[in-house]
Amino acid sequence: MAQRRQQPMVILSEDNERTQGEDAQDSNIRAGKAVANSVRTTLGPKGMDKMLVSSSGDVTITNDGATILNEMDIEHPAAQMLVEVAETQEIEVGDGTTTAAILAGELLAEAEELLDSDLHPTVIVEGYHEAAQLAHEAIDEQVLDGELDTDTLESVAESSMTGKGTGDITVDALASPVVSAVQQVATDEGVDREDIRIHTQTGAASSATEVVDGVIVDETPASETMDRQLTDATTAIIDTELDVTTGEADAEYNITDVDQLNQAIEAEEDELRGYADTIAEAGIDLLFSTNDINDRVVELLSREGIVAYEDLSASKATALAQATGATQLGTLEDIEAADLGTTAELSVEIYGEDTLTFIDGGAETDYVTLFVRGSTDHVVDELERALNDAIDVVIAALGSGSVVPGAGGTEIAIADHVRGHAASVEGRKQLAIEAFATAVDELPRTLAENTGMDPIDALVDLRARHDAQGRAGLVSTGRSGEVGDPVEAGILDPAAVKREAIESATEAATMILRIDDVISSDN
Ligand code: ADP
Ligand code: MG
Repeated sequence: MAQRRQQPMVILSEDNERTQGEDAQDSNIRAGKAVANSVRTTLGPKGMDKMLVSSSGDVTITNDGATILNEMDIEHPAAQMLVEVAETQEIEVGDGTTTAAILAGELLAEAEELLDSDLHPTVIVEGYHEAAQLAHEAIDEQVLDGELDTDTLESVAESSMTGKGTGDITVDALASPVVSAVQQVATDEGVDREDIRIHTQTGAASSATEVVDGVIVDETPASETMDRQLTDATTAIIDTELDVTTGEADAEYNITDVDQLNQAIEAEEDELRGYADTIAEAGIDLLFSTNDINDRVVELLSREGIVAYEDLSASKATALAQATGATQLGTLEDIEAADLGTTAELSVEIYGEDTLTFIDGGAETDYVTLFVRGSTDHVVDELERALNDAIDVVIAALGSGSVVPGAGGTEIAIADHVRGHAASVEGRKQLAIEAFATAVDELPRTLAENTGMDPIDALVDLRARHDAQGRAGLVSTGRSGEVGDPVEAGILDPAAVKREAIESATEAATMILRIDDVISSDN
């Protein structure tokens, strides 16, 4: 009896592994720090790139925090939470993923020291949350006055792209197409992200990247004899097969003589001609189909001067519907004018081995494509990621209507503000608030390191200039960096990106700190 009482009650199966208390915390903090360290060297314009090789041998060369963390095979649950920080950041504001991951890791590293000096995790968590509030105040103070004009938005786009694995590419050549793409589709209600597409095509310098109205599809008309250029074309999109119906009637054909054979052929011809006639009678000049079009129908359409595309993917059909205003039709019967769209301009062009069709719906529809050029697949892939970020930050800046100094300028202001308030906080929570400021300092310090500046000197100079002028950053131009005014240098980030980075990093770090028991099952 006595023996039974002493035995601990076992509620977990033997397959479970359990780490508790300080061990659990240690392991979580170490995993979190490791993730942050894995992207540290990529921060900022002079950040290095990473080459990611998948198990199937695919190579990605990138500097994008979210991409790196996504492609890495991360198993540790706490580390996985940091990856989620980057993902949230990417989804919410589209940029600042490296910043958020580094900050989360640094908050954990600082917490580790506080735990070592016996600060209770709840005190750290409270301190961090209070500090995050102070950080938001500091960001609000840093918001620049004035309108977000095209120049400002281009600066924002540029800052988000500098240092992406674009080599010697001049990003200012890309900032302008990004901003004009966003401006073209922007309405009073904001920007629908779906209205901006990216189409990549190798074979030219990235400076040839441009905004084109409408959509680009890598498709060729169904017949060589069809026009390669169209203007003001009435457009239909269908997803029904234009071929001989293989109904029951067919099976009953019992062809025994030439007459019957001729009849059968005629019936088929009638049916096919019927399709072409219906299309022509509906006034359609341009037909997109997600299905097959019988060769004979293609020929008849071509004779009528109608341009047709067959076997389009569903996503292309959706884009074309958006761009031309046409409704996707399941049948050719009872086509109404309202179902048809317009293509102001269509042109088929050849790029090396690829044929592309450019379709512009005209003034009625606002739909643009960034036609991204680059020398190789690796270049256009990384450009696509950089441009996606840039589009997002321009939208974020437009949405919140506010931008802040980049190049570590906002971070140094946050650290200063948080540290300034820590002194007035009673008790040991003060230590946690100070630790938060130290963690934020790590961002400009990393920028300095990645630029080849001495991080300690740079931080001292940066603080001195911030104290003297209220605004300072580690402006990187050409090969090196120096302490200067980020606004003068045109290095601006959306305030929303900074806010989200503070929010998601604090959230992840405090969540990890609250865990003191890790139970993992093997299955
Ligand atoms: P993230 O994933 O956090 O966006 P990035 O590698 O894109 O990481 O780096 C972003 C940081 O680089 C921002 O703080 C931004 O202000 C800064 N930055 C951008 N351009 C410059 C520049 N020319 N000089 C210094 N800092 C810059
Ligand atoms: Mg960025």
